[in-house]
Amino acid sequence: MQDRPHDVMIAGGGFVGRTLALALAKLAPQGFRVALVDAEPPHNGIADARASALSAATKKLLSVLGLWNQLAAEAQPILAIEITDSPLNAGLRPHLLGFDNEMTEGEPGAYMIENSDLRRALATAVDEHPAIEIYAPESLSVFNSDAFRVVARLAGGDRIEAPLLVAADGKRSRLRERAGIKCVGWSYPQLGIVTTVAHSKPHEGRAVQHFLPAGPFAILPLKGNRSSIVWTEGKECGAAIMEKDEAGFLAELSTRFGHRFGEISLAGPRQSFPLDFQVARSFVADRLVLVGDAAHVVHPLAGQGLNIGMRDVAALAETIVEATRLGLDIGAPIQLERYQRWRRFDSAFSATIMDGLNRLFANDSAPLRALRDLGLGLVDRAPVFKRFLVREAAGATGNVPRLLRGESL
Ligand SMILES: Cc1cc2nc3c(=O)[nH]c(=O)nc-3n(C[C@H](O)[C@H](O)[C@H](O)COP(=O)(O)OP(=O)(O)OC[C@H]3O[C@@H](n4cnc5c(N)ncnc54)[C@H](O)[C@@H]3O)c2cc1C
Repeated sequence: MQDRPHDVMIAGGGFVGRTLALALAKLAPQGFRVALVDAEPPHNGIADARASALSAATKKLLSVLGLWNQLAAEAQPILAIEITDSPLNAGLRPHLLGFDNEMTEGEPGAYMIENSDLRRALATAVDEHPAIEIYAPESLSVFNSDAFRVVARLAGGDRIEAPLLVAADGKRSRLRERAGIKCVGWSYPQLGIVTTVAHSKPHEGRAVQHFLPAGPFAILPLKGNRSSIVWTEGKECGAAIMEKDEAGFLAELSTRFGHRFGEISLAGPRQSFPLDFQVARSFVADRLVLVGDAAHVVHPLAGQGLNIGMRDVAALAETIVEATRLGLDIGAPIQLERYQRWRRFDSAFSATIMDGLNRLFANDSAPLRALRDLGLGLVDRAPVFKRFLVREAAGATGNVPRLLRGESL
């Protein structure tokens, strides 16, 4: 059993926890020490069939941290977005709304990255950084704070301490629970099915979102003639589809996919995920802050969950680095409140928008379809509003932390 003083402890080594560890290790004043505790072994090769749509703002953060140059070759820019709204058995899925997804000439609003590539790049960078001490596989859920520090006991018996503990331990956060923070939320009666398809025609960087009665069906471009599928389906129907053999699964997928990209075939494993809406009632407690899915979980229909988590990373890193430079206590209530003010309303707002869109589109009501199609048609004819939506999804609006603007701290 050892006492190990660190400057910050992070519980959870998913994308959000690792990115925060790297941001602090690289950008906080010299000598800053980070403890990163993760329940999974560091290079676990977790089976993850997903790819993530990373916003232009997240790309800027990864660039400042020196990660983007390792990912760029595998990143597929999303150059255009098309939206359709039709019943499941429609022979055609006509284009209702289309966007050029560029922030400025030649700067895409988002990029697709396969989760396995992002995980590998982050794991290597974190491993190689001497200021990060990794405890994995390890679990942190017992901690106590006093006026100066928080002391945590790891499942393996180690005791570690720091002025601040960050909960990056995902949507079932045990740290959040131990701190007594409740959530507003519910589970959707839907499953998120993901897989990868290959197609005979090129996608030309186009992402397509078919709004179907059971939920959105997204076709997101990957390198080569491949696309990542994020398919929201009713729970029972989704479970039955997951049980089908390859031919049966492909037949269900083809019914929803449409004919835009020619012949399709499966090009990766399938996985399904339960879907939740969840926002923590507070993002902070005594010497504890919540980031990523521990703080908020959103419907994946607009591919924003991780991007919102990266906004937490950027805002918290900026708060911590500025306080450290001024010689202030990074775990003091005034610092935690600054982070909470920056992030809680913004995250709750985004989660509510995703929830509203899912409710508006995931039904088979003909009058409602007519009404929303009229709305989408109007948006399609409003270039200024479309430009605003692209900038919003790219993470370029509101009080944007410096790292998301591509600036160092
Ligand atoms: C189908 C689907 C598609 C999605 N697509 C997108 C997309 O296109 N774009 C996007 O931005 N987002 C997307 N998301 C959301 C995104 O995947 C999540 O928001 C993101 O992965 C959350 O990362 P995290 O690090 O906060 O949490 P997690 O990835 O859940 O990581 C939590 C980590 O904490 C560890 N842990 C748990 N408990 C403990 C403990 N007690 N002690 C130590 N470690 C612990 C776990 O082992 C894990 O490593 C999607 C989600 C789904 C379900």
